Amino acid sequence: MPEAIVAASASESTDGSAVQQVDVAVVGAGFAGLYILHRLRKAGFSAVGLDEANDVGGTWYWNRYPGARCDIQTVDYSYTFDPELENAWTWSEKYATQPEILRYLGFIADRYDLRRDIRFGTKVTSATWDEAAQRWLLTTSNGADISCRDYIMATGCLSAPKPPEIDGVKDFKGEVLFTGRWPHHDVDLKGKRVAVIGTGSSGIQAIPKIAEQAAHLTVFQRTPNFAMPAHNGPRATDRVAQFEADRAAFREQARWSLAGVPLTPTPAPSWALSDAERRERFQKAWDEGDLVFILSQLWADQGNDVGGNTLVADLLREKVREIVKNPETAAALSPFDHPFGAKRPCLETNYYTTFNRDNVTLVNLRDEPIKAITAGGITTDRRTFDLDVIVFATGFDAMTGAIRAVHPITGRDGRSLTDVWKNGPQTYLGLTVAGFPNLFLITGPGSPSVLSNMAVSIEQHADWVVDRLIDMRDKGLTTIEATEAAQEGWARHMADCSALTLHRLANTWYTGANVPGKVNALMPYTGGVGPYRSICNEVVGKGMLGFRLGGPDGAAQCNDGEIVRLQPDVRLVLNMLAEMNLPPIESMGAQGARDFITEFNKGRPPGRPVGEVLDGTIPGNERLRYRLYRPATPGPHPIVVYFHGGGWVLGDEQSDDPFCRDMCRRTGMIFVSVGYRHAPEHRFPTAAEDGFAATRWISEHASHLGGIPGPVLVAGWSAGGNIAAVTCQLARDRGGPQISGQLLICPVTDCSFDRPSYTENATGYFLTRALMYWFWDIYCSPDDRTDPRVAPLRGELRSLPPAFIATAEFDPLRDEGIAYAEGLAAAGVNVEQLKGSGHFHSSYVMVDVIVTGAACRAKMAEALRRFAGLPAAAGDERARFERKTPPTEINAAAG
Ligand code: NAP
Repeated sequence: MPEAIVAASASESTDGSAVQQVDVAVVGAGFAGLYILHRLRKAGFSAVGLDEANDVGGTWYWNRYPGARCDIQTVDYSYTFDPELENAWTWSEKYATQPEILRYLGFIADRYDLRRDIRFGTKVTSATWDEAAQRWLLTTSNGADISCRDYIMATGCLSAPKPPEIDGVKDFKGEVLFTGRWPHHDVDLKGKRVAVIGTGSSGIQAIPKIAEQAAHLTVFQRTPNFAMPAHNGPRATDRVAQFEADRAAFREQARWSLAGVPLTPTPAPSWALSDAERRERFQKAWDEGDLVFILSQLWADQGNDVGGNTLVADLLREKVREIVKNPETAAALSPFDHPFGAKRPCLETNYYTTFNRDNVTLVNLRDEPIKAITAGGITTDRRTFDLDVIVFATGFDAMTGAIRAVHPITGRDGRSLTDVWKNGPQTYLGLTVAGFPNLFLITGPGSPSVLSNMAVSIEQHADWVVDRLIDMRDKGLTTIEATEAAQEGWARHMADCSALTLHRLANTWYTGANVPGKVNALMPYTGGVGPYRSICNEVVGKGMLGFRLGGPDGAAQCNDGEIVRLQPDVRLVLNMLAEMNLPPIESMGAQGARDFITEFNKGRPPGRPVGEVLDGTIPGNERLRYRLYRPATPGPHPIVVYFHGGGWVLGDEQSDDPFCRDMCRRTGMIFVSVGYRHAPEHRFPTAAEDGFAATRWISEHASHLGGIPGPVLVAGWSAGGNIAAVTCQLARDRGGPQISGQLLICPVTDCSFDRPSYTENATGYFLTRALMYWFWDIYCSPDDRTDPRVAPLRGELRSLPPAFIATAEFDPLRDEGIAYAEGLAAAGVNVEQLKGSGHFHSSYVMVDVIVTGAACRAKMAEALRRFAGLPAAAGDERARFERKTPPTEINAAAG
């Protein structure tokens, strides 16, 4: 008998009451719940939907405050699963109003006849996994309990309003309203004295509308938010034209994009644009009225670098000062406590101009906190406001609120989800939780969810989950559960992704910071919609990696492991390289390989500006070229002699240009990149001897080069790391020059190929074992390979300068780098190691491509400063955003 027929029946519980038997129960009848019900039904599963509301709509059912609209363009904020549906519905505006979105969801419910499977006005009061039956038992506030095999929480991210947390709300004799639970009847604010507390997206949308009606509106603002005009109106013609030109391609691009909207982020970094170009881009974005546009089209470093971000933030604050007439009010409305985009920015319609109205007052709670709400109004520590209505636009217990707080969920072995998440939510893919079989979360913590176009993420999640249920049914499997290892791996990957953002510098509902006592953890996945989709697909492609699947009669399958071990940007770069399907470098011949690398390097972001870049030559038997990078700070500076990578065959003094610039800026030291000679024209020991000779010459001419006379430092990457290490040994043995520290980045240190990293990372990580064999063959005959001038690990390791050795997890050279560090330490040399997890051989030098390498370079720079006897570089980036008041130039303007 088909499962659907069995499952749609009713049975009796042990106490005799009816139990509704279904395959799947879905909580929530919003965007997610409706689509899942549709998919489940089409797939032949029996399902019931449950919603506390009396109709469909989810967040759009509850958030019906004046001015409520979406702020993703509606052409994007739509279902895409049915091309016919896209013909049947046309949005009237660029950003649809809440009533229109609600009508759309009602239209969907009718079109696919979904209401008949939904129990409205029904809350789930508990959910318990029944181990014996291998099913979930749900109790409800209204009607029969439910027994289901799979339980899907499509509860939305922003559906549990946050309590007001202000004393005296109950004493207030006037009307209290919440934007997140706005009454369904008309609210007449005409002639009333109204307060709005909260200036997030909801407050910013509601305030101008309320100001139009109220006799007086007082806005109580704790933290100003960044906002830009929506420029709402009829649907944006360019966007619609793009959509109509090729609907399928438009949707497909959105599915693989970062934010679920078909926009490719600009590659240009801020420092590659002039001030005029930046202003032009900014003005275009301002006129566009689109959050995803401004977040992705200005310059590449706005989302991950405080400097690049401040440039946008300054321009936004400038706009506020232009619009708001009272300079003190403008200053109070200008955010300084978080980077732009790290807290959800807002779209506004007449928000800033509202503060130019005579009937509107802004109260800055940073200056005068609320003491209490009284029977007659609100008292701050400076004054009292008499009020008829207080509107709380104070936000939500986001992401976990609707899952954890709404009802107890008890999984395997009686463990409650609240306990399991007591230190913060943990999920696998944001979709499942270890210990909670057959429980699925839609846009849960760990999903791109609120950092994406929710419509796109919801469809992807729903499709993935329902496809899994179909697969399992086809294979006779009935249970699915994430493993602990997979979940831990996902947490690590989430942390790696968030290191690429500036979210760490803001207290927001993304991190739970808006709810007193909530654990602080960044909840949404920051790696982007497209990468997330490819990861979910990869999980399936790898035999449901990270899941334990079970069936009747003890059938079981578990392919345990972590789905992403690489840093997120390393994964993207390696995937991109794999797609290019390049011929192996070693098949190109030496000159062909050099030409290839030169071409390849043209595609990388330009290096950042430094004080000065000079090219010169080092005299000797054979003149060696060098490139000198001088910091912008007054000299003299310590000098670092740098050796580029390239297997003794490729590269030159310019080929690690972005890296040298970056390190020059970070260390405040001169970097001199040496163009040592290459094989096969100049085989062993030329590169080593050139390195040593160049270091001696640079040391002897330190003053002439603008450096501090005395010891120099050496640094190098890959084969350059080999030359730097060898130079230290030669300098020790040949009576100088004095070297005060060595930075070795993924260095070649030995000629042995049997360490595990050579096998584990033999292919797939750009530097392959075959390429290393080729480099060795070109540079050095087998007889020479044990010479310490090419295998420094085989040399005498005592009395060498202090070292900082960085290795990368996915690098054939990893283990010989570690062996060198251990060898130095055993010989009494002061050594620090950095083992870059998830990194590959090129991670640290691919500046502004592998952005996760930046934190590692910061450590390298600290080490070099220590070796040179310089104090640690100042740089508490968090402190920059802890200013409670605007900086002085704005205070001055206010005066
Ligand atoms: P929110 O962004 O969390 O904003 C809440 C506001 O209330 C903040 O200004 C907050 O100040 C303030 N607040 C909270 N507790 C307070 C207290 N005890 N005393 C004084 N002020 C207090 O909430 P939201 O505006 O409802 O928006 C939440 C999210 O919903 C948005 O970020 C967005 O993702 C979504 N949303 C979307 C739309 C749309 O699509 N158009 C519309 C509305 C909402 P602090 O910042 O100091 O905590």
